[in-house]
Amino acid sequence: VNAYVPPLADIAFVLHEIAEVGALGSMSAFEHADPEMIDGILEEAGRFILNVIEPLNRVGDRQHSRRNEDGTVTSPDGFSDAYAQWVAGGWGGVPFPVSYGGGGFPWVVAIALQEMAASANLAFSQCPVLTQGAIDMLLSHGDDRQRETYLPRMITGEWTGTMDLTESQAGSDLGAVRSSAIPTGDGRWRITGQKIFISYGEHDMADNILHLVLARVPNAPPGTRGISCFIVPKILLNEDGSLGVQNQVHCRSIEDKLGLRGSPTCVMDFDDAIGEIVGEANKGMQYMFTMINSARLSVGLQGVAVGEASYQRAVTYAMQREQGRPIDAIINPTSTIVDHPDVRRMLLTQKAYIEAARSLIYFVAASIDLAEHHPDEPVRISRAELVELLTPVAKAWSTDLGVEIASLALQVHGGMGFIEETGIAQLYRDARIGPIYEGTNGIQGIDLVTRKVPMRGGEVVAGFLAGIDEMDDKLALGGPQMNSIRERLGEELSTLRSATRFMLDAELADKLAGASPYLRMFGIVTGGWLMARQALAASNRLKGASDQNGFASAKLVTARFYCEQLLPQAGGLLRAVTTGADNLLAFVPT
Ligand SMILES: Cc1cc2nc3c(=O)[nH]c(=O)nc-3n(C[C@H](O)[C@H](O)[C@H](O)COP(=O)(O)OP(=O)(O)OC[C@H]3O[C@@H](n4cnc5c(N)ncnc54)[C@H](O)[C@@H]3O)c2cc1C
Repeated sequence: VNAYVPPLADIAFVLHEIAEVGALGSMSAFEHADPEMIDGILEEAGRFILNVIEPLNRVGDRQHSRRNEDGTVTSPDGFSDAYAQWVAGGWGGVPFPVSYGGGGFPWVVAIALQEMAASANLAFSQCPVLTQGAIDMLLSHGDDRQRETYLPRMITGEWTGTMDLTESQAGSDLGAVRSSAIPTGDGRWRITGQKIFISYGEHDMADNILHLVLARVPNAPPGTRGISCFIVPKILLNEDGSLGVQNQVHCRSIEDKLGLRGSPTCVMDFDDAIGEIVGEANKGMQYMFTMINSARLSVGLQGVAVGEASYQRAVTYAMQREQGRPIDAIINPTSTIVDHPDVRRMLLTQKAYIEAARSLIYFVAASIDLAEHHPDEPVRISRAELVELLTPVAKAWSTDLGVEIASLALQVHGGMGFIEETGIAQLYRDARIGPIYEGTNGIQGIDLVTRKVPMRGGEVVAGFLAGIDEMDDKLALGGPQMNSIRERLGEELSTLRSATRFMLDAELADKLAGASPYLRMFGIVTGGWLMARQALAASNRLKGASDQNGFASAKLVTARFYCEQLLPQAGGLLRAVTTGADNLLAFVPT
């Protein structure tokens, strides 16, 4: 029995109702991507992921990626072969330009595929996600020769990519990067330094690895304004593009981790390694910011993905485990635990959070597509602003929820949850990385309150909140089943408005003190808006044709639960958001 089955109906619902993939398909950039074709592709991807990638999840956790004495890294059994099949299927190229061998599909379609891969095997799925980041960077900032040289083989996945940002003294603050780059005189550079925590920095799944390395050129200004970005291939290329000799870049060691163990997390030594600069010197951080939204969105998605895999295990367990009696039992039959209200609360909390966070991620992904390809400039601009505003929320809220969902799913298992055999313990450990990497969740909160909320003097966030308000009329016409959804959404929207006003007016220290609870509140209310939209779509389906497998009625149950029981948490956060920094600063750590 597979532990995870791709939730194709849920994904299709969000793609069609929230991401409006039909409308995307009518734009000239995506005219070959009609919605039925997209559903077909996802079905096929789901089968491949279920049969080939998912069975290796446990193997990766048990075996880890291992470093050999000569500095090479051996991936867990089966990873290499599965990756070869991934490449053969062209799965990594889905959203990239046809001109470089990609599929030319909307970003949101790649997100759906990524969700399934990450649910099935988070450690494996990280390799294509990093490659995608490197591709994104070269597409936006590489020169023609670099694109021609590297992109075709990275888009197929024959070569993989890494992001080499972190150093021991430079984590959240990349301005502290010390690695150096010296010009060789022939247009190339020599890179020296040590990078830590580099995912897939070394492995045996591809012929070459392209490292994107942040380093400083001579006389660079201090801080983030003096950082440049370099391409450093593991294997240098000959004049004719064929693979040449090994570059001076080596894996010194590999971390022993809490989770994500199949994925090698490497300390990488660059010792006069040959590299090429991307774009201009000292603009590395600026370039990173252009790809950071999609990278952060992919990490937010990992929260949803691990949440989904955890929920599926929990619900299966709850329907099998017999314990206690049903509340209305007269004689003494045993009951499965799924009958107990508290277990239902745990399951429904997981399901509702997953559906809310998934719709947020897909909404932002579709906005990335619209920001790039919509024919009307005002739409492109307003979607680009929405992507900026919502990305920190999508990253941090979803990964925090990923941990909470996995924890609840483990709790449903009782003592067996604590035992590795059931597999839920691995998901709980794997989920924990999401809030840490790709900018810690604390850093996302700071980004939200210091950069995003103040965009255009608060007009962008005000426009977004006004859009939520506009739903009220539709909910009012939705009949009695929308009553509680409408009331709670209205209440908590006004809470978020008050908190947002505070964030626009407060002193910096007070903003920073309230940033994380504010981000949480922002996520909860945005989730409420998206669940309300889903409830309306579900009730429209109920009016029309038959409700296949009770999908639409089930959606109304989760939407109501979300709005009645989870959304009101936003109100409870208001004090924490607006109290200010005094007491935090009075705290004397002892
Ligand atoms: C499994 C794994 C894979 C990784 N993969 C990669 C990779 O492929 N490439 C790569 O370059 N890096 C990678 N990283 C590194 C990761 O991105 C960093 O660990 C992360 O950015 C945090 O940096 P740090 O560990 O130095 O923590 P620190 O920056 O020291 O942060 C410690 C704590 O302090 C908080 N904090 C720090 N500064 C501030 C501030 N100004 N205000 C408020 N709070 C603050 C943080 O939120 C955090 O809670 C990976 C890490 C792990 C564990």
